[in-house]
Formats: sequence, structure tokens, C-alpha cells
Amino acid sequence: MEASMSLRLSRRTALKAMGAMATLLALPNARSVAFAGSNPFSTMTFDPNERRTVAIVGSGVAGLTAAYLAAKAGFRVVVFEGDDRYGGRSLTVRPSDAAYREWWFDKYNPHRLFPRMYVSSYQESDRSPDPAPQVANMAIETWPGTNEPVELFLNAGPGRIPSNHSALLDLCQAVNVRLEPYIFLSGSNLLSSPTFKDGQPVPWRQINFSLMGELAEVMTAAVQDGYILQGYEEASVYNMLKQFGDLQANGTVDGSTTLGYLRQPGGWQSDIEVTRPVSLQDILGSGFVGSGDAEQSTGSFLFNPNHITWQPSLMQPVGGMDRIWQQLLLQPVPAQSCDYEQDALGRLDFAGRDSGDLAGQRFVGDLVRLEHTVKYVDNVPKGVMIGVDGLSGPVVADFCIITAAPALVGGDRTAPASGDSGYSIPVPDEMAITTNLAPRLKRALADVRMTPAIKVGLQGRTRFWEEEDEIYGGISWTTTPSSQIWYPSEDFNAPTGVLTAAYNRGDAGYRYGTWSQARRIRQALRGGETLHNDYASKVYADNAMTIAWQYMPGQVGGWGDETYINQAEIYRRITNLPRGRVYFAGDTYSQVPGWQEGSVDSARLAIASILSGKPSTDPDLY
Ligand SMILES: Cc1cc2nc3c(=O)[nH]c(=O)nc-3n(C[C@H](O)[C@H](O)[C@H](O)COP(=O)(O)OP(=O)(O)OC[C@H]3O[C@@H](n4cnc5c(N)ncnc54)[C@H](O)[C@@H]3O)c2cc1C
Repeated sequence: MEASMSLRLSRRTALKAMGAMATLLALPNARSVAFAGSNPFSTMTFDPNERRTVAIVGSGVAGLTAAYLAAKAGFRVVVFEGDDRYGGRSLTVRPSDAAYREWWFDKYNPHRLFPRMYVSSYQESDRSPDPAPQVANMAIETWPGTNEPVELFLNAGPGRIPSNHSALLDLCQAVNVRLEPYIFLSGSNLLSSPTFKDGQPVPWRQINFSLMGELAEVMTAAVQDGYILQGYEEASVYNMLKQFGDLQANGTVDGSTTLGYLRQPGGWQSDIEVTRPVSLQDILGSGFVGSGDAEQSTGSFLFNPNHITWQPSLMQPVGGMDRIWQQLLLQPVPAQSCDYEQDALGRLDFAGRDSGDLAGQRFVGDLVRLEHTVKYVDNVPKGVMIGVDGLSGPVVADFCIITAAPALVGGDRTAPASGDSGYSIPVPDEMAITTNLAPRLKRALADVRMTPAIKVGLQGRTRFWEEEDEIYGGISWTTTPSSQIWYPSEDFNAPTGVLTAAYNRGDAGYRYGTWSQARRIRQALRGGETLHNDYASKVYADNAMTIAWQYMPGQVGGWGDETYINQAEIYRRITNLPRGRVYFAGDTYSQVPGWQEGSVDSARLAIASILSGKPSTDPDLY
């Protein structure tokens, strides 16, 4: 996402410092001790005498994190997923090409466990104006001189991990997800707006450093004109302004190389030409500095990189964002976690795993039942009774963790959406869950405002953005509805790569989603044209893919609308009202909506709460 405020700056450090103390927490019984050591995801204490059961609704990042932790603690665990794929909103789409698929499995999952972890198509539900299947017919190319294909994927959901998302980073470390830099900003990224030079694209650096230079000039002049410095030493202030704006001997930014080159320095005595500054007047009228609503077009293009969740360093898993839950599926778990003895569940089939390297091994993926939609979740005297489509009868669990969107539990037919348009998002009936939770709690869940979000993916015929524009990663911004182009942060100089060719949310994301697939693609091409000449001819337009999350199966939008800030009373009710043995986890229930951090940390809290018997709001669990 995503523009969420993330205020937990030193959590990772605090968790580490508290690691040793965790074992000493005043927990109700000794076997509940968990989360000792420095990484709370790799240091669960296993209890061979644990016999309690946990049923989890949803196999997204939250559901799989909860399953992994519960299984490691010794619980019997089952995860019900209504969709036919794992991962929920963490959807990464890979080439449909059969040979490429084999190459991928050889590289990442040679035992070919849980093969549905490889996704090359998806489809919006019937609520969508155009639910045509989206298939990743990407063109496979090899690295020059080798048979190794260039790795291709579209992160149709999450794409980046901020460095302050400590719970998620801990999880990545615990389950061996390799990380690499995600580049949010390259100085060469382009900005385009109709109110700046008739829409001509301009590099970010030219606007940003012109602005810094001119502000420094204005401030210098103000001090020279007698602006009262309130005790600051004049020479220090002049020096700071000179450096801030890279002011030249002429007292202006004109001539500063921060602005970039029109003609680059070369090997030998070429004529160097430095880019000229853009005037403050032009910048103020450009539309690059507008409403200040982060990531929205128009308005905050210039300052987006300052936002706490977009500041360097950001990271991405090597190979695609779904590597996180793929690695979760592949984590070994104690055998007892699979012994959920209830007739309705039947026996798990470990066919093909009774000999060889994997003999006797059990994994998180064994706990997951795809295409098992949960229909009801009721607190009953013995625990929680769960009705699941496709099972012969209800399942009873000691605890149930629901990770499905709040609106799916709230009971209304539509969910309110963020933004000013007053529209609402239809709730997918087929995944709705009835419960006997308190009406006030259900009302709060139904009232959570959701944010629509769309993306479009396009493969480049070449990496023209690198070859022609010196753009290596980062995001270019356009005021057209497609709003952004993300360039790949990986595999520079490869013969091809996949662009996130549109990404928008809120009102604009809602409108975008109401269009047909063809119109969504046309808009993405038009947006690209404002940034790159002949864009349409440089991408595989016929293979474009689009997604509107408000119409995806089992989803009610991209994420919750900062509920804990914008709907504080509702958030208080969701986190505080009694709910028996039913727990909620997922970004939408957390203080970090729109980020996997919220999913992972709320899942950790749900398990810590179950283990300790303390409510998830108890400060001891943080
Ligand atoms: C466009 C977009 C961009 C994003 N960008 C980022 C980013 O850059 N970085 C980041 O960290 N995060 C980002 N996010 C947020 C991130 O995707 C989420 O925080 C995370 O994936 C949510 O995981 P979850 O498990 O909480 O929920 P989900 O992934 O929604 O999982 C819930 C699961 O429950 C299932 N379900 C629903 N109802 C039922 C039922 N009745 N029975 C059984 N199963 C059911 C659903 O099918 C789904 O699989 C982005 C999200 C979107 C949409």
C-alpha cells in the first residue's frame, strides 16, 4: 500500500532485548512459555504434551504465519482456505510456459511439494465488470550466452518491505527468505503532469534539486535582507544553505551537477552539459507538489520518498513477494500438528512421501485445505464449532483464528469504502461467514472502511527504461489514472523485465476497477505514453494483466482504511470486545493495514494470546 503510518520504530530492537525475559513472563502455566530468544518466529518452545487444536480461516500471510507458530508450539492445526490457491492478497504471477515452470520448481522447490504454490493465472469473481481469466503468457528470454531464463514475475499484490517492518523481517529471517533491495526512488525516475511543460516528462532529480536549490537561494536572500536568525550563527546558516541547495559560486543552483547532465562526462575531453534548473514558479504550478495525499495522483510525487514506509532501505524477497508464504508452506512442523483427529477432516494423505529424503517429514503446507470455504464459526461450550463447505460435518476446535476480511464476518452485503465518492464494495456472499459473536462486534466488523486497489502488469520487449532513460528501478509518476510505473529492482541489464504498469487505490482505484479489462490496459498504455515515447510498441501489450482487488474471490478491497486512526471507535471495539475463543489476525485488524507487517504481527499476537491466556491487547505480549 499504502500510506499507512508505522510508528513502531524500535520494536525489533525491543523484541531482541526482551528475548531472554520472554521465558520469564508470568504466564499461567509453564508449558505456555514461548517466543524465547531473539527471533520470535524461530524460537517457539515445542510442547510434546500439547493436545489443543487451532483452526485457522485463510491461507494468506497471516493464516500461514499463525499455522507455522501454532504447529511449532505443538498444537493440532488445520487451515481452511476457500480459494483454490494459497497466499491471499500476496499474489505473485509467473509465466504459464511449461518449461519455465519446471525450471522454477528445480530452483525453488525441487521436491515439488504443494505445487499450487506456482500461480500463472487468476480471475476476478462475478462481482467484477469483466472477470475474464488473466493468464501470464510472458515471453521467456534467456540471459545472453546461457540457457538460464530471465526470472519473470508480477507482484499483483504486495511488492516491497520497509526496513521498519520488524516482525515481517524477523519472519523472513526465520523461514529463510532471501531479501534484496527494492528501489523506491531513482533520481532518473520520471514525473509527468499536464501542467508542467504540456506533460513532457522530467527526471525527479531535476525537479527535486531545483526546488532545494531555489529554497536555499530564497532563504539566503532572506538572511541577507535581515531575516532575524534567533541566535543561530549567520556563517553556519549560510554554509548549511549552500550545501542544502548545492549553490554555486554564482549563488544559485544553476550549474550544479545534482540536476543531472544533458551531455555526460565521458572518457576524454567531451563537452559536458549540465541540466538547467526548473524555476520555483514552474514547480509550484507543476502538479508534482499538490494535495500531499501520499501516492495519490496528483500531488505528492516529489515527496513520496520521504514517507516513513517508502524511505530507503526497502526490500523485496529475491524471486517475488510470494516467496514468503511459499517458504512458510515448506517449513517442517512436528508430526503431532497434523494429527487433528476428527471424523469430518478425514486422514491426511502423505502419498509419495513415505520414502526418500522426505520420509516422515511434515510441513506447514500439510495443514492447509484449499477449496474449503468456512461458512460459520460459533463459540460453543467445548470450544469453537466451524462449518466448512465440502466436509461431512462441523469441526470443533479449541481455538479459531479468522484472517478473512472483516466485512466477510460482519454480515452486511456491502462494505463501506474509503474516499469521498460514497460507494460501497459488494461482499462476496460465497465466502461470507456467519458467527454467534456479539452483535456489537459484528457491527464494528461490518463498518470497517475498505480501500479499493488496482494493478496492471506489462512485460517490456526490452528494458528500454534502462537503455534509453537510465532508470534502474524506482517508480515514475503520471497524473493519468494509471498513476505509477514500477521498474524492476532486480536483474538489471537483462533482455526483458516486468513492469507494474499501473497502481492506484482509493477513489481512483475504484473507478479503474469498474472498467473492462481492455479499457484498464488502454489506460495503462496511455499512462506509460506520458512517460516514455512509443511506450505501447515497447511492451507486450497483448499479454497485459490487470487486477482489481475489490473483485477478487474472498476479498473486499486492497486493505482497511487506517481503521485505528480513521475509525478509532470501531477499531477499539474490534480489539476489545469479548469474542470467546475466536481470534482475528490479518493486516486489516492491525495498526498496519495494507502491509504484511500487520498480518504477521497480529498472527504472532494471536498465538501468544492463546498460549498465555491473555487478551491480544495485553501489553505483556508486545
Ligand atoms: C495492491 C496491493 C499492494 C500491496 N502492497 C504491499 C506492499 O508493498 N508491502 C506489504 O507488506 N503489503 C502490501 N500489501 C498488503 C498485503 O498484501 C497484505 O497485508 C497481506 O497480504 C494480507 O495477508 P492476510 O493473510 O492478512 O490476508 P489475506 O491475504 O487477504 O488472506 C485472507 C485469506 O482468507 C481467505 N478467506 C476469506 N474468506 C474465507 C472463508 N469463508 N473460508 C476460507 N477462507 C477464506 C481468502 O481467500 C484469503 O486467502 C498490498 C496489498 C495490495 C492489495
